[in-house]
Amino acid sequence: QPSSQDRNPVMPRLRRALDGIPGYRPGRPAAPGTVTYKLSSNENPYPPLPGVLGEAVRAAESFNRYPDMFCTGLTAALAGRFGVPQSHIATGVGSVGVAQQLLQATAGPGDEVIYAWRSFEAYPILTQISGAASVRVPLTAGEEHDLAAMAAAVTGRTRLIFVCNPNNPTGNLLRRAELERFLDRVPPEVLVVLDEAYREFVRDPQAADGLELYRDRPNVCVLRTFSKAYGLAGLRVGFAVAHEPVAEALRKTALPFGVTQPAQEAAIASLGAEAELLRRVDALVAERDRVLAGLRGQGWTVPEPQGNFVWLRLHEATMDFAAACDEAGVVVRPFPGEGCRVTVGEPEANDLFLAAAAAFRKAG
Ligand code: PMP
Repeated sequence: QPSSQDRNPVMPRLRRALDGIPGYRPGRPAAPGTVTYKLSSNENPYPPLPGVLGEAVRAAESFNRYPDMFCTGLTAALAGRFGVPQSHIATGVGSVGVAQQLLQATAGPGDEVIYAWRSFEAYPILTQISGAASVRVPLTAGEEHDLAAMAAAVTGRTRLIFVCNPNNPTGNLLRRAELERFLDRVPPEVLVVLDEAYREFVRDPQAADGLELYRDRPNVCVLRTFSKAYGLAGLRVGFAVAHEPVAEALRKTALPFGVTQPAQEAAIASLGAEAELLRRVDALVAERDRVLAGLRGQGWTVPEPQGNFVWLRLHEATMDFAAACDEAGVVVRPFPGEGCRVTVGEPEANDLFLAAAAAFRKAG
């Protein structure tokens, strides 16, 4: 009697666009049972505030009901917080979910999507799933977005451009004047997505603020998230701010009921507790500055970090460095052959990381 496997059944036809997609690789977790700190996913090391947790738990009592599909309370709270019309806000399952909706709304086979490389690894994956072609513009030798080359890469097929600011994983920032010059060069029918996932950690006074830039530019869409500064990565809430046609397209492409009610309530409560949460961000920024000074003092070249992470260009030493960090009790994020991205965590984790970096440098 042949088993079903032996019969070599015909498989459903899957889209060719999916061939070769590597799949998203999450940062490795800390090993169970050891004193290990996870610095591999740019998470916030602080647990939820009791008041925020309380709202999420209260909302969980209605798990038998679907959530508010339009996130009415949350979009109203965001509109109030940022001084933008509520109709300009669209929410999604993390900002990565919103990025996927933006591609669904703009690009498909035959179209092109431009982004810097290296940048956030979801961009190539989501672009390939959409069927559009990726146009990767290499970072400059100084690890900066090459905005002139990105503008020059626009063709009649370009539908969307991702600009990650600050850039993940290099951490550095585009300033307002250079970003404005770039936006002036991009044709108005091409959507420019300013991914500002780490905005709250930015301290450079010349930083571009997408929420100012988008106001008189209908082709600019700003992406923000509750995952980083607000510490709600596990609840999956992101949002976009854009003019109404783009925001409306995001409402059409949204997964129905994608943002759960506990997530919505926790996000609203976080906006209510913003002063306290931003004090935590200040503490992380102070730790970031301490880590940066420590690394530079050890002789490392580090691009100016404006997110909650630092970038070490390690080339072929990348995996050895990651292994040395593992042994020291901190899990970092290696990009093989390129470098390691290290999240700024609690002070004791940062101490372990700095010690491991110093030892590696001495040995190397
Ligand atoms: N954009 C950037 C630049 C990121 O680094 C991340 C998370 N690593 C995201 C978007 C997605 O975050 P989330 O989906 O949790 O909002």
